[in-house]
Amino acid sequence: MSDNNQHFKIVKHKDYLYVIQENISIVHSAYTNDPLSMYLILGNHSALLIDTGCGISPLKPIVDKLIGSRKLLVFNSHAHWDHVLGNEEFGEVYIHEIEEKMVSEPYDLSHSKELFAKYYSNRNFSIPPAKIIKKLRDGDIFDLGNISIKVIHAPGHSLGSICLLTNKNELFTGDVAYYGDQFLPRRRHIPIVLESLSKLIKLCEKNKSLELYPSHRQFPCDINLLTELYKGVSNIKNLWHTRKPFDLFYAWEIKDEENDKFRYFVSRL
Ligand SMILES: [Zn+2]
Repeated sequence: MSDNNQHFKIVKHKDYLYVIQENISIVHSAYTNDPLSMYLILGNHSALLIDTGCGISPLKPIVDKLIGSRKLLVFNSHAHWDHVLGNEEFGEVYIHEIEEKMVSEPYDLSHSKELFAKYYSNRNFSIPPAKIIKKLRDGDIFDLGNISIKVIHAPGHSLGSICLLTNKNELFTGDVAYYGDQFLPRRRHIPIVLESLSKLIKLCEKNKSLELYPSHRQFPCDINLLTELYKGVSNIKNLWHTRKPFDLFYAWEIKDEENDKFRYFVSRL
């Protein structure tokens, strides 16, 4: 089932799994990782929404309609703007403890006015947070009634990035792994990215039926996403001399002629 409203595309992927998609390129064409996928998992008594999107169109009414009388939990996969700016619509939001502060205060976009002018200048580049922020830790388990969710801390893309593993063989990877433009930390922190990818690869090797649900572009994916990304990120050191400054993102841009599934932006901040 697929149904389009004005801003979000809603896909019923399984009986208990909806995908709510938003195109982030409308914010600025420099963002090419369309669509952003938010996932809504429906358990017997509770539902989990993973991420709240860009905050430029009401999301909660859509979620409320889909979950019926279930209790709603809202998690942020990490604190980047395209995953958290809808938080203010929700009373309570969970995020990994390392990034709790980043979403507890109004979200400041004023450092990149050129990128965010279109939708956020009328809110003075400052987006209110959710009322209550709760902390997630590695290994936390949540029961939705017949579906359980385990939190896996996977730092790299950001220090508090998480993946979420269900007892039904889904692994929601957030921005830890997807096809498309990769936003990476400073070069010296790239080993942390590789360590997390390697942890997820081991998980997929142990459970061959795992399906991967990334926050951007196509889904579901499989272990190949992780192994290809691991290989690509490992190769950055060999391509380092080809880097070009990409000032909009305060990053170095690196293209890999041998693998066009990824492009890399390595932070200069
Ligand atoms: Zn993202």
